[in-house]
Amino acid sequence: HVSTKPPPEPSPLRKAKFFQANMRILVTGGAGFIGSHLVDKLMENEKNEVIVADNYFTGSKDNLKKWIGHPRFELVRHDVTEPLLIEVDQIYHLACPASPIFYKYNPVKTIKTNVIGTLNMLGLAKRTGARILLTSTSEVYGDPLVHPQDETYWGNVNPIGVRSCYDEGKRVAETLMFDYHRQHGIEIRIARIFNTYGPRMNIDDGRVVSNFIAQAIRDEPLTVQLPGTQTRSFCYVSDMVNGLMRLMAGDNTGPINIGNPGEFTMLELAENVKELINPEVKIITVENTPDDPRQRKPDITKAKELLGWEPKVKLRDGLPLMEEDFRDRLGISRKK
Ligand code: NAD
Ligand code: UDP
Ligand code: UDP
Repeated sequence: HVSTKPPPEPSPLRKAKFFQANMRILVTGGAGFIGSHLVDKLMENEKNEVIVADNYFTGSKDNLKKWIGHPRFELVRHDVTEPLLIEVDQIYHLACPASPIFYKYNPVKTIKTNVIGTLNMLGLAKRTGARILLTSTSEVYGDPLVHPQDETYWGNVNPIGVRSCYDEGKRVAETLMFDYHRQHGIEIRIARIFNTYGPRMNIDDGRVVSNFIAQAIRDEPLTVQLPGTQTRSFCYVSDMVNGLMRLMAGDNTGPINIGNPGEFTMLELAENVKELINPEVKIITVENTPDDPRQRKPDITKAKELLGWEPKVKLRDGLPLMEEDFRDRLGISRKK
């Protein structure tokens, strides 16, 4: 039996939101790299009240220090695998370690964060009527057999590998988002984020851009993992944050790829870092890890057409912006 009933009227609570002056926005994982840049941007709007929920696994209060004590800002130590009872109008759900060494450190916890964490945030969205945006990942395409990747591609993912806690976790998170949307009418947005870089990345998180920049600054060899011909496409964090906010504001559920289509081999990336940051540094090759995707490049037609968004910062302009932040934190200034 298929119900022919019209969808329920918005609740009085939901209607009342129309008249509300302030927008209460929850950012889970807001103490992390992308989350803290998103918070900076959201705080620019005086109508926004921002609540960050983070367990500080890979993030830090330091990333948010300029907002602590601000009347429109609240920081809560909270693990999203536990229920969260607060009142909000929008949820940016980012909480999840993103770097392979961190998400592989405790894979069972990574799965819980993706599955139970997303379930809880959807329960919160259901109770409050909030719109929820999930930061999914290009990893849902696995080691892709289609290149570049567009959103219709179902992916090539190993379900039992060492990366699966992350990529299968995010795939279930996407499934949960759509089931809550279809079953309970929750307003959802899904961004599939491609490799993002910029200031505030963890210095020792093992990701390729942070590794190469820290190595170049410390006069250590740049470690290109074999074969070195594998590709990635790198998006500067300010472009990423703009894309996420446009997705949240628009009418499309997604999933929508957000990333920079400029594609580089890891050897090319190393050459660029060497030229821009330390021409003296050596480039060496080292062993790779299992299941490393051989190629990755977003097709961003949908983001362009539906969100009017495309990235502005080229890799060669973004790397020096990150260098400055890394030098500050490492306490190593540029040689004269
Ligand atoms: P990050 O590790 O800097 O930030 C993640 C934040 O989530 C951290 O502050 C961490 O402490 C917090 N967190 C982790 N587990 C938690 C839990 N159980 N409860 C509460 N907080 C928790 O990573 P990021 O690069 O800022 O990534 C943010 C989001 O974007 C993640 O969902 C990630 O999967 C996604 N993403 C990032 C990239 C990228 O290149 N950076 C690419 C694809 C997708
Ligand atoms: N939940 C939450 N905050 C809320 C409402 C729900 O964290 O404001 C959690 C709740 O603990 C549950 C999950 O979200 O584990 C899913 O909630 P839902 O109401 O969809 O499912 P149910 O509680 O009926 O299993
Ligand atoms: N990589 C590398 N040297 C490093 C760290 C990573 O060559 O010091 C390579 C890695 O093999 C992969 C690519 O860089 O092919 C991107 O790795 P990262 O961990 O940054 O992100 P992800 O694999 O999640 O895209």
